[in-house]
Amino acid sequence: MTPAEDIALNLAHIRERIAEATARANRPAGSVTLVAVSKTHPAEAVAAALAAGQTVFGENRVQEATGKFPSLRPAWPALRLHIIGALQTNKARDAVRIAEVIESLDRPRLAAALAEAMAKEGRRPDCLIQVNVGEEPQKAGIPPGECDAFLRTCREEHGLPVRGLMCIPPAEGDPRRHFDWLAGCAAKHGLPVVSMGMSGDFEAAIACGATHVRVGSAIFGVRG
Ligand SMILES: *Cc1c(COP(=O)(O)O)cnc(C)c1O
Repeated sequence: MTPAEDIALNLAHIRERIAEATARANRPAGSVTLVAVSKTHPAEAVAAALAAGQTVFGENRVQEATGKFPSLRPAWPALRLHIIGALQTNKARDAVRIAEVIESLDRPRLAAALAEAMAKEGRRPDCLIQVNVGEEPQKAGIPPGECDAFLRTCREEHGLPVRGLMCIPPAEGDPRRHFDWLAGCAAKHGLPVVSMGMSGDFEAAIACGATHVRVGSAIFGVRG
């Protein structure tokens, strides 16, 4: 099999697993969006996924995304790019320029930088607040206890288009209580987007209410 055939097959398999998990959770078909995480993989891998019908992609570095995506857009106008990784404030403007969704809004200074960048660019990508659900010191994200206040700051002080929440639960242990917490917090605030679940745990995330799952290695292979 060629690498492109591999990607197409993996995508078909992941879509099937998403459809099954969605049905098992008694949720409507099509209510979960697959974000294909293409970080570290070349533009050819993204093109192969596009050819196989995938339109939504996730990248964790703005610079890498800038090198890959703009040249694909003319041929694939439906393409939607999500920035899912730690975003430096000095990259906020580039992120606003190239992304449809910024999933890693994780601190007040970044909220201010994104608001300024959106005003300058005249472009308003959706924002998701990243929550450090396991309160792990090495991970980015707003502590769960500060999520309500931070959401208020983002909306009222900065006028940001916050559409949902995102998390990466601890690698060890059952992620479901973290997934439940994130979905509950989003519901409490009327936020429609809940981004959670990766290659190893997206079915559990769907059972807990994920609207977006971010799957990388199960589609594109293990990162080098
Ligand atoms: C890399 C990454 C993913 C995808 O992880 P896989 O285990 O390869 O599916 C999802 N979310 C974020 C934030 C990532 O950085």
